[in-house]
Amino acid sequence: MCAKTCQANAIDFEQKDRTVELKAGAIVMATGYDVFDPSVIPEYGYGRIKNVVTAIEFERLLSASGPTAGHLDRPSELALEKEIEESAKEVRKLSARVKQLRDKQGETAPEVVAQAEVLAKMEASLEAMNRKKAAATTAKKLAFIQCVGSRDFRFNRFCSSFCCMHSVKEAMIANEHDRDVHSSVFCMDLRAVGRGFEEYKLRGGKQANIDYVRGRVAEITEDEAKNPVVWFESTTSRQVKSEVFDMVVLAAACVPSAGTAKLAELAGVELDANGFVKTDPLLPLATTRPGIFVCGCAQGPMDIPESVAQASSAAACAAEAVTNAIKN
Ligand SMILES: Cc1cc2nc3c(=O)[nH]c(=O)nc-3n(C[C@H](O)[C@H](O)[C@H](O)COP(=O)(O)OP(=O)(O)OC[C@H]3O[C@@H](n4cnc5c(N)ncnc54)[C@H](O)[C@@H]3O)c2cc1C
Repeated sequence: MCAKTCQANAIDFEQKDRTVELKAGAIVMATGYDVFDPSVIPEYGYGRIKNVVTAIEFERLLSASGPTAGHLDRPSELALEKEIEESAKEVRKLSARVKQLRDKQGETAPEVVAQAEVLAKMEASLEAMNRKKAAATTAKKLAFIQCVGSRDFRFNRFCSSFCCMHSVKEAMIANEHDRDVHSSVFCMDLRAVGRGFEEYKLRGGKQANIDYVRGRVAEITEDEAKNPVVWFESTTSRQVKSEVFDMVVLAAACVPSAGTAKLAELAGVELDANGFVKTDPLLPLATTRPGIFVCGCAQGPMDIPESVAQASSAAACAAEAVTNAIKN
């Protein structure tokens, strides 16, 4: 279908891998970052507690083209929908089998009675699940946990730089979708570094129901209704507290992309202590090998405007290197 529909004839399913040898005058490494896997912090319950998601997953939920068309349906409810579908299928199958057995063996045959009992139990459980689904509402109370895997000596010591702002952004968008949404952002400090960022943070607090809680979260547990429970020390009141939320969003660290080390070895460039491509503080796009430049998160965590500015600059550096090589 794709091959037939593409007017530019750009789709070719017959293409094979090729190794191309290119003589390049300069190279720009722009291989970005990966998101830290929060399941290695068991106390946060990611992967075990359904309503604990990463910021990337939360962005998909907020997206109009995402799995919930932008509604904040909780993952536990989405899982329940699937369970209902599967269970309804099983009920239909068993119901047909019981009817067949009844027609063959009669109402009182022991196998018919046993199977009818199983069917009744399955129908009751399906009904309970449907009642639970009907009573479910979208998430209204959100917790954003900052510095998950960053500024943490167990994992990565560095600051991921953009997570504070993307958490505020996500909390603001969630509130734009539904004015009843309230968010708590748990952080050691909120690093709104950039022009207008501090004002954006404050606007979130005043206009989008966002609270900023100073305190590192110790643990996330789950109550019987599948609500995540956040345990934390509020450093302002100096008390250990717990609070129930509908959903928890983890701001997982920005880490070097998986292929960075291999690529650096191939390219003959050095990495810094955190595994990003090493640069000179006075020449932030120059790697340790002349003619090879780096930009964006391959060099370290940074937001889109900074990555784009660096990309333009790296392209200019590459052009300069090639022009100089031709001249000489
Ligand atoms: C949840 C979340 C929300 C965010 N929201 C915002 C926001 O609202 N505003 C903002 O400014 N920033 C935001 N950011 C940060 C933003 O994602 C980064 O600043 C930006 O993506 C960095 O761009 P980049 O090109 O350096 O890296 P990337 O976006 O990671 O792009 C790198 C590309 O290189 C490719 N690649 C990797 N290895 C290789 C290889 N060996 N060969 C070829 N290709 C390779 C990758 O597939 C990828 O396509 C957010 C980040 C997260 C996690």
